[in-house]
Amino acid sequence: MDVLVGLRAAADLVFPRGCAVCGAAVSPASPWPLCPSCVGHLVPMAEPRCCRCGKTLLSEHQLCTRCRQASFHFGRAIPVYRYAGTVKSAILVWKGGDRRSLSRLFARSLHTALSEHFPGAVLVPVPPRPGKVRARGWDQVDDVARILERQYGWAVLRALARVGRARAQKTLGLAERASNLSGSIVVTRPLVSSVPYVLVDDIITTGATLDSCARALLSKGAVSVNAVTLAAH
Ligand SMILES: [Zn+2]
Ligand SMILES: [Zn+2]
Repeated sequence: MDVLVGLRAAADLVFPRGCAVCGAAVSPASPWPLCPSCVGHLVPMAEPRCCRCGKTLLSEHQLCTRCRQASFHFGRAIPVYRYAGTVKSAILVWKGGDRRSLSRLFARSLHTALSEHFPGAVLVPVPPRPGKVRARGWDQVDDVARILERQYGWAVLRALARVGRARAQKTLGLAERASNLSGSIVVTRPLVSSVPYVLVDDIITTGATLDSCARALLSKGAVSVNAVTLAAH
């Protein structure tokens, strides 16, 4: 699988295919595999946003309905996009490993959000579920983290790992998601209390994954833990 993904990525460079979402022609000079129209449809989350999970507020003030009932260990989460339409299509293609060069576009989106909300932070990628990398051949969150590190100069600390055999979150209900993850995230690197850490993940759904990661970091000496994600459900 690893080899297959690598071959596809290489073929992308030599024989550029159309837009990853709509199939329209893409200029060979384009740095990413999306046509200008689809890039234009990558619309940031609308304001005003929940001051905890970052999702667009409907009629509420400051906190969304869910964040009024839940308490998270992270300070704030900033999702860049709403997980719908063109954004959803592009993320699904990307996560499937077929158009891995989308990582560059998504890294740029995350870089913009990080620069605005969390300048100077140390980034901590959310680790993949056990077995996922073996099944899919790559870890897309680590891929964008590597670009954020090398191209944009962010400090990245791969401080988290998952142990055990957590089931796929999307197969579980709300209550099960939290217990499924509890205890499965471990901190593998020393942390510094004065460093502001920012978790990086692809999608925030209930916030349970980010919460488990933040709790693990706080238990090992971190004091400030926020989060940035590409999209929010
Ligand atoms: Zn397109
Ligand atoms: Zn919220």
